[in-house]
Order: sequence, then C-alpha cells, then structure tokens
Amino acid sequence: MTINERFSRTIKYFQKVYPVAETELAYRSPFELLVAVILSAQCTDKRVNIITPPLLKRFPDAESMAKAEPEDIFEYIKSCTYPNNKAKYLSGMSRMLVSDFGGTVPSEPVLLQRLPGVGRKSANVVASVIFRKPVMAVDTHVFRVSHRIGLVKNAKTPLSVEIQLTRHIPVELIHESHHWLILHGRYTCTARNPNCSKCGLTDFCDYFKKYRSKQKLVEIDITRQKIVVIKS
Ligand code: SF4
Repeated sequence: MTINERFSRTIKYFQKVYPVAETELAYRSPFELLVAVILSAQCTDKRVNIITPPLLKRFPDAESMAKAEPEDIFEYIKSCTYPNNKAKYLSGMSRMLVSDFGGTVPSEPVLLQRLPGVGRKSANVVASVIFRKPVMAVDTHVFRVSHRIGLVKNAKTPLSVEIQLTRHIPVELIHESHHWLILHGRYTCTARNPNCSKCGLTDFCDYFKKYRSKQKLVEIDITRQKIVVIKS
C-alpha cells in the first residue's frame, strides 16, 4: 500500500465515522478560545469547559483580563492543572494582546506564538479553528494515532509529525484531520488499550498488524454491518 493510499483510506473512514469534527472546547469568540486553549495544556477539555464560564464572565475580553493580576485570575482557575503558571500566562497574554495587537487575537501562527503560554501547538489550534488556516496542531492523540496507523514514519517530534501529515493531507482537509485524529485517539485508539474491535482501520493499521494480529479474529455479519470481535 502506498502512503497516499493509506492517507486516502484513513480520510475516507474518518469522513464516514466523524462527520462532525470540531473542537470540544466551548468558546464564543477568538479570545475565549485562546483562553481555553491555554488552560487545556495537560488538562481535559471537560475540566476547562467547567472553568471558563465564570472566568470569562468576570474577564470577558483582553482589556478586562489585562487589568487583573495573576492572583485574581488564579482564583478562577485553581481547579485546573498548573494554575499558577496558567494564571501568569493568561495575564501576560491579555496584556500583550492589548499592547501589541489592539486587543484582537492575531490570525497568524507566528504572531500567536509570541503570546505567553502559546506554543506552536496552541497557536496552530487557534489559527485552524478560528481562522481556518491549513495548519496541523500535533497533540498527544495526533502524535500517537498517526504513528499507529502508519501515516508518519520515524517522526520523533511533534514538528516532524506535523510536516509529514501536512505533506499528504489535502490542504482543505487539514482542519478536519486534526479533529479526526483527536476524536479517534480520545474515543477509539486510546493510549493504553486501543479499541481495535470498533475500528475500521484494521486492514492496514501498522499497530494492529504488529501487536494485535496474533489475537484470534472472529468476523460476524449482523444486519449487513461487519463487526470484528477480538479474542485474546
Ligand atoms: S486498528 Fe487499533 S491501533 Fe489501529 S487505529 Fe484502529 S484502534 Fe488504533
């Protein structure tokens, strides 16, 4: 199978199983997404979505958050991971938005990366979700799932995964592909125990071939739907 066929079959499968592919972070504006993305580092989207409504009610825009001290912000985000650092990031990010960008979230990843608390991955998430830029944010799910399926080879860093993925994914599908890989990693191809019996990529997935093919497969046809049951 060529690499292009591998990408093409993976994309077709994801289009079928994840017709709606969007971020699970709740937001109503670019500023709100930026805040949520900073908070989401090493934290679940579910937790972030609990934290952001009261935080953003108190500090609804860059101007109001820029006036706050990190300690004021900390009070609203203390149930998050690394609240001390993130309070400083949110304060610094808001102040720079006001001083350097007129209070508006920039659309270019390179500009977003100047903001405190915003690395390459976070910048790409905001640029892709808000501004539909064809950039791939590589988080732990994207990294793991792309390797398992065999979409990337010998990619040791998130940057090399990003480069290999964007080389093969059609530019108009990069935005969705990011969410597809995250959804697949979150709900099916989970880190500890991938649920291969519910995955339609077993025919060509590298990980499945290497680690699961010795297990006995039983194929059942129920109401014309092919279900693969894995027995150890
Ligand atoms: S077959 Fe298994 S390892 Fe491969 S992508 Fe699907 S869930 Fe992940």
